Amino acid sequence: TAAPASTPLPAARAAGAAAPSGRAPLPVLGRDVTVPLVTGGEVTYAALDYAASAPALQRVWDDVAAYAPHYGSVHRGAGHLSRLSTELFENARRTVAGFLDCRDGDQVVFTRSTTDSLNLLAAALPDDCQVFVFETEHHAALLPWGSPRAAGRGARVTLLDAPDSPQRAVRTLERALAARDPRRPALVCVTGASNVTGELWPVRELAAAAHAHGARIVLDAAQLAPHHAVSVRALDVDWVAFSGHKLYAPFGTGVLAGRADWLREAEPYLAGGGASRRVVRREDGGVDVQWHDGAARHEAGSPNVIGAHAVASACRALTETGFDVLAAHEERLIRTVRDGLADVPEVRFLSLFGDDAPRVGVLSFVVDGWNGSHLAAALSAEYGIGVRDGLFCAHPLLRALLGDDPHHRDECGAPGTAPGGAPLHAVRVSFGAGT
Ligand code: PLP
Repeated sequence: TAAPASTPLPAARAAGAAAPSGRAPLPVLGRDVTVPLVTGGEVTYAALDYAASAPALQRVWDDVAAYAPHYGSVHRGAGHLSRLSTELFENARRTVAGFLDCRDGDQVVFTRSTTDSLNLLAAALPDDCQVFVFETEHHAALLPWGSPRAAGRGARVTLLDAPDSPQRAVRTLERALAARDPRRPALVCVTGASNVTGELWPVRELAAAAHAHGARIVLDAAQLAPHHAVSVRALDVDWVAFSGHKLYAPFGTGVLAGRADWLREAEPYLAGGGASRRVVRREDGGVDVQWHDGAARHEAGSPNVIGAHAVASACRALTETGFDVLAAHEERLIRTVRDGLADVPEVRFLSLFGDDAPRVGVLSFVVDGWNGSHLAAALSAEYGIGVRDGLFCAHPLLRALLGDDPHHRDECGAPGTAPGGAPLHAVRVSFGAGT
């Protein structure tokens, strides 16, 4: 059974085990926020939950603040501010295309988030599509393919078992694709970096396998894009999705970028102004609509120009800083966390591919005898450290990682809250450019 919240925390080698040993490569907002401690006094808050939402880069905030007095409607006005905003919005699209190293002819659609982007692609699947997805995916990448909209078009989902190595992931996918009906279109959806283990997935190899079997592939780069250069061209993926708020641009924007054909042939994601080129009332009282072919087809309604501007600003800042610099910084932080907890035998890090597998700055662990939610609450109340606890919107993955370990049941010994009794609440620390 889990320990009560009042039990002292297992001693880490250093208090504030995740304290950075190098200077943060990029300034972010909120580094000087102080919070009260239950033990008395206050402490500078340590935000170690970048994988959920990263703080805004100072530079992103400055760019947004500089533009804020000038914003106007996008694609909907002849006035100066409207023209300026339209230009800014379309420039942001070009910046994102460059950031992702898109191919000629690829489309960049602005959405609300990764979840929204993947739901958009799910709504744009061709008829009778077979979708292959590992059970280890974030729910945002796992669930859209079974949505009523996709199911109504005959989409069928094949769940692939959690692999224990990158090589096994490729073999599992190859086997599943080889057994598929080659007459039906197929899509593979895969994460670039796990939001639970931080581990990097063999995207290029999975893309090669998908294409060799006539399937397409979409990369969920929600956790990859803030930490690694993502090249659509080099990885040879068909689409990429990511979220602005994980990329230091927390202003309600996501991106779906990639091949135009499925998007052009699909019904608009939302019906409304902006997506429609021409609307004519018919004699019988109905309306005939001609939809746009480009990204606008799926961007009905007034676009979030501040969000797009912020994402573009973050893309520029990360590129100029260099992902090699960011990766070296995160590597130091990963070592600091691991070394700090090395003397605590109760701690077990979660991993599919092994503790030494390459990863981004995301580490999850369980502590034997502890409910992760109590631990996270104590880290916040007693140390001012903000982490995430729970099942991380990846219930099947947590189940694959922890099985039915009795240490990770709730206080009453009942299985966790996830369907099928998945274990209850691990702890995740995550960091990045501003840590
Ligand atoms: N994919 C991964 C790997 C994630 O970590 C997340 C969010 O945590 C998502 C998708 C969904 O992102 P959003 O909540 O911004 O839609």
